[in-house]
Amino acid sequence: MDADTLVIGAGFGGLSAALHLADAGQRVVLCEALNYPGGCASTFRRDGLQFEAGATLFFGFGEGQLMHRWVQRFGLDVQADRLAPVLTLRAPGLELVVDPERDAFVERLAALPGAPQAAIRRFFHAQARLAAGLHPVLEQPDLLPPWGPAALLSHAVHLPRYLPLAGALGRPAAALLARTGADFEPLRLWLDAACQITVQAAASEAEAPFALSAVDMFFKGAYHVRGGIGALATALVRAIRARGGDVQLATRVRRLERRAGGWAVHTRRGVVTAERVVANVLPQDLAGLADVRSPRLDALGRRVRGGWGAAMLYLVVADEGLPRHAFHLQLVGESRRPLIEGNLVLCSVSDAREERSPPGTRTVTVSTHVPLPTDAAAVEAVQARMRRTVAERAPELRVVRELTASPRTFQRFTRRHGGYVGGVPRRTGLGQYLDLLHRPVAPGLYLVGDTVFPGQSTLATAVGGQRVARTLDARVVA
Ligand SMILES: Cc1cc2nc3c(=O)[nH]c(=O)nc-3n(C[C@H](O)[C@H](O)[C@H](O)COP(=O)(O)OP(=O)(O)OC[C@H]3O[C@@H](n4cnc5c(N)ncnc54)[C@H](O)[C@@H]3O)c2cc1C
Repeated sequence: MDADTLVIGAGFGGLSAALHLADAGQRVVLCEALNYPGGCASTFRRDGLQFEAGATLFFGFGEGQLMHRWVQRFGLDVQADRLAPVLTLRAPGLELVVDPERDAFVERLAALPGAPQAAIRRFFHAQARLAAGLHPVLEQPDLLPPWGPAALLSHAVHLPRYLPLAGALGRPAAALLARTGADFEPLRLWLDAACQITVQAAASEAEAPFALSAVDMFFKGAYHVRGGIGALATALVRAIRARGGDVQLATRVRRLERRAGGWAVHTRRGVVTAERVVANVLPQDLAGLADVRSPRLDALGRRVRGGWGAAMLYLVVADEGLPRHAFHLQLVGESRRPLIEGNLVLCSVSDAREERSPPGTRTVTVSTHVPLPTDAAAVEAVQARMRRTVAERAPELRVVRELTASPRTFQRFTRRHGGYVGGVPRRTGLGQYLDLLHRPVAPGLYLVGDTVFPGQSTLATAVGGQRVARTLDARVVA
């Protein structure tokens, strides 16, 4: 065998799995189709400009969290600045700054005219208790099944923390607003917008434990990565190579074939044999690469089809009058319409010190969700809506140049079937907790990435990659 493990794809799921396995001493080959790493969370260059391709808000850099541990343990040359504020939500008649500390945000909401103060405090108290129940298992892969004695002991000790979760299972996040009497328009809008970008579903549909833990990440620390998330992805490639891993960029995997004791992986450059394959691709793309029949792969594929594509505007704007640091605006066109298709956009403005565009200008990544399948005319209509939302809610962003991207662009660049991006929406339902149980899709064939637990976001896919690495090799450090 040429390798112990071959990893397909250098998104954050694949990078994480490859890094941890190489660090544990395995012979690892990582094949990435593009000539740069990061997938949906990468930084691309065009005409001397630099943009975040998709993801712009990053988590996990706080003391003791996974990205922080990586920076320390692997000596990554990466600088992450904590965002304060996390972002500003603007909607008709509302400008709501989202503070990096929960208490400050609660007081800000409670100070709004007509705010039900006690109810708002009850809501966030309950939200924090739910998040405290789920966070340990989302952040520490060794607490996820398969459980060893240490994990079982830890769960037993923390049992009281999990109790609030029981009452929220199978219910939408918005139910907590009603239960605590906090159904106050600005809070509802914030929760809706936060759920849409974290768990890909409106608060009225989002599974409460996941959604209320995901929005907690705002208060655990949201970060801007200096120079772009591509800097972290590139640093991870270096770290994998420094540990003996073979990272092959511009090397698309074309086919997987089962062989005695492993897999033959056909790439653009030749055949690599490996005992195991970790695939950082969508379930339906894996089914296209390998001749495997698996009910689990089919079920995951169906859930992906319930997800979204992304429509993008990549803007160059005049720098004059803007804050110097990176900042994020969540802009809502009309408060009573669904927060998709350009009616909600996340606008992420780069840091002036990064010099990603000519002097006097800054680059901005603007994204929104679109239902799939879609066609060119529908995407253009969404992009027109995005422009209107930006112009109405953020007139300080004076656009001097614009590039666009659609689900087709994502399909072309990240090879995600149909352009589905951002993970599987966490809509209410108990079935998704079965994802906690980790299984290969076929002997020696594993999935990582945002379609498997714990799901979407760079941090979640990184945690998922580490978790798979741990199931493959007991030497992987938590
Ligand atoms: C518009 C947008 C905004 C987002 N905003 C945020 C945000 O602010 N914060 C956040 O944390 N998350 C955000 N996300 C989600 C986050 O980016 C993704 O969940 C995460 O990056 C997905 O990682 P992944 O491991 O699933 O791999 P992907 O990013 O899908 O990467 C897979 C990689 O595999 C490669 N590949 C595919 N097929 C092959 C093959 N056959 N051979 C070789 N290589 C192959 C691809 O080229 C790609 O590089 C956003 C996503 C989008 C699209």
